[in-house]
Amino acid sequence: MTDTLFDPAVDARRARRQRVATPPSPAPRPWLAKLAAGAAVGGLVAVVALGISTETGSELSLPGGVTTFIGSLTGLAGMYLALVMVVVVARIPPLERILGQDGMLRWHRWLSPWPLSLIAAHAVFVTVGYAQAAHSGMLHELGALIAHYPDMLAATVALAVMVTIGIASIRALRQRLRRETWWVLHLYMYLALALSFAHVIALGPAFVGHPLTRVVWSVVWAATAGLVLVYRFGLPLVRSVRHQLRVVEVHREAPGVVSVVMAGRQVERLAVSGGQFIAWRFLTRGLWWQAHPYSLSALPQPPYLRITVKQVGDHSAAVARLKRGTRVAIEGPYGNVTRHARTNKKVVLVAGGIGVTALRSLLEDLPKGTDPVVVMRASSEHQLVLRDEMAELVRHRKGTMHELVGSRQQVALTGRRLLELVPDLAERDLYACGPPGMVEDVVAAAKSAGVPQHAIHHEIFSW
Ligand SMILES: Cc1cc2nc3c(=O)[nH]c(=O)nc-3n(C[C@H](O)[C@H](O)[C@H](O)COP(=O)(O)OP(=O)(O)OC[C@H]3O[C@@H](n4cnc5c(N)ncnc54)[C@H](O)[C@@H]3O)c2cc1C
Repeated sequence: MTDTLFDPAVDARRARRQRVATPPSPAPRPWLAKLAAGAAVGGLVAVVALGISTETGSELSLPGGVTTFIGSLTGLAGMYLALVMVVVVARIPPLERILGQDGMLRWHRWLSPWPLSLIAAHAVFVTVGYAQAAHSGMLHELGALIAHYPDMLAATVALAVMVTIGIASIRALRQRLRRETWWVLHLYMYLALALSFAHVIALGPAFVGHPLTRVVWSVVWAATAGLVLVYRFGLPLVRSVRHQLRVVEVHREAPGVVSVVMAGRQVERLAVSGGQFIAWRFLTRGLWWQAHPYSLSALPQPPYLRITVKQVGDHSAAVARLKRGTRVAIEGPYGNVTRHARTNKKVVLVAGGIGVTALRSLLEDLPKGTDPVVVMRASSEHQLVLRDEMAELVRHRKGTMHELVGSRQQVALTGRRLLELVPDLAERDLYACGPPGMVEDVVAAAKSAGVPQHAIHHEIFSW
């Protein structure tokens, strides 16, 4: 074994008992997610009620009145849902701990067609309504709206940006984009929302002549902006400055796979559970502008943290060439595939290739008596990364380890195969980590073998 600053043989459970390790991340409180969902739905009902209550019968009976009313209502609901979408991905720790980043992104993607369609419908209905009222053509009215109404130019630019992002979000197109391009494109959504704010206040029937609703709406927007600033930018900045991490070692684990050890200040204050990941920003030329998620491949050993990275593209390849002393900024820890997710006493962990990293730290973090069965799957023997460390941890916990080597066709992880390996599968929680196809197969196999949904926890190493 390579000589390394990070000792893979340290028993983190004992270290935690002796308080020389980091504390675990706080336990999630699932009721908070229900509360947040209730508040979001309540907010939508209030917004729709506000839109309806501020419309008068006489305004509706005017030419274009009904069309304009529909336009106002769709605009109001669309803008509100756009805020909800932003809050969902604001990385608010109590919510992130329940849903995980995967879950948050799923909600974000599920919601996203709604605000975009409603806002686009708003633009069409309002233009048609105003054209009907003025007895003019739609294009003429559109020009007049942009030229003569306050803040309409900014709102039109905002709509164009939102539509562009909406089109780029279509699955087939998104998959062609680089993750970084996608990320930068998304930053423009914040700009679009900021640009659209003024026209809502200046022209919305629910706000013109209604100072109280103006104040409430402005507070809701300011609070949303505050959440984004605090959790997406502020907290990562504070943690990065507090811990001042630097790369102290890069060593090879297997062909195309390296472990990076970082050291920092007050690492013992970083609350993190096994199975979690951090978005790492290596502050060196060519890498400082992108943060990539890598799981901790062991529980921290203050002052050290360790990740294990497989080279698949430009960032992960550059990680292998990191110089000692490189400064590192962090966002996280994130992720809900942790000891807290467990609903049964016993567990089975299924690692696909480099997915072993998250399960390595999770295994180290699991309490006594979990009788772990570990299944390591890889397409070739040398891709069974960290296998010795896994074997040692399994041995200490009196568990069982299976290694499955071969292509996905050769060693298909079907429900039957899982049951052969783990006969009491249905009485265990199943944790799976790895590439998308593999994790999806394992989840489907586990369900077909009788593992209930709530006992299946997975992290997909993709976006
Ligand atoms: C929660 C999580 C934990 C992860 N943990 C590990 C780990 O411990 N070890 C490890 O080697 N890899 C891990 N990954 C995968 C790792 O983030 C990607 O392999 C890496 O970001 C690829 O970047 P690249 O520029 O080298 O390759 P690219 O060519 O840019 O991408 C290769 C593939 O990686 C995925 N990817 C790229 N960038 C990101 C990103 N910012 N976020 C998510 N997925 C991305 C995409 O699906 C893409 O198809 C993890 C991913 C996630 C989501």
